[in-house]
Parts: sequence; C-alpha cells; structure tokens
Amino acid sequence: MMTTQDNSTDKPETDNPSEEPDDASPADLKVSMGAQTLRIQWQDGLTSEFSLPQLRRVCPCATCRTEREKKHDNPLQILKTDPSSWRVTNAQLVGHYAIQFVWSDGHNAGIYDFRMLRKLSKESSGSA
Ligand SMILES: [Zn+2]
Repeated sequence: MMTTQDNSTDKPETDNPSEEPDDASPADLKVSMGAQTLRIQWQDGLTSEFSLPQLRRVCPCATCRTEREKKHDNPLQILKTDPSSWRVTNAQLVGHYAIQFVWSDGHNAGIYDFRMLRKLSKESSGSA
C-alpha cells in the first residue's frame, strides 16, 4: 500500500487561517486617542494592550515593509519627522478581520490583521 502525501511547506505564511486558532478575533476593541493605545479583549478572555507608536513601527503596508527591508541593506535613515510624534487620529474596522489606523502624518495604508496582533501580543508578553 502506498500513500502519497504532499507535505510541501513552502507556502506563504499569509492566508492560512487554519494555522491560527479561531480565538484570534476580538470581543472588544478600544482605541484610546489620549493614551495612544489599542486594547483588545479576545474571544477567549485574554486582553492585549498595544502602544500605537509601536504598531506604526510594524506597519504591515507595502510602503513600510519596503522601508524596513531597505533598512536591512542600508541602516542609515533620514527622518523628516520624528516617528514618535506620529499619532493615531482615527481608526476603523476592515471587515471582521482587521483594524486600520489613520496617522497624523496622513499614513493609513496599514491594515492590522487581528491574527497578526494576536501573534504580536504573544511575542511581546513572552512566557509568564
Ligand atoms: Zn505603512
């Protein structure tokens, strides 16, 4: 008997919802403009809090990703404005799967998938 299973693992890590548990959806979302934080209460009861300037540094949009990749080759950065002065001025949900921020410098291309945020919160909290 021969069973052939193609277990190729060279798939892109995006668009693979089966990999993450379904609890990566928020029960409650709060964006605080004053404190510049995003607070997510997840379906499974866990609460994560993100600093918005920190989220800007991991902005998943193509422009920012390219910037970060360029930084890999050339660490010199010339900043026209101080990134720490960027503030979120507005936020909106994208479907049921992501949140999008509008920043004070006009940048709004970053769409933060909840699965990404869930992963980030795991990484930053580390092991208890
Ligand atoms: Zn961006």
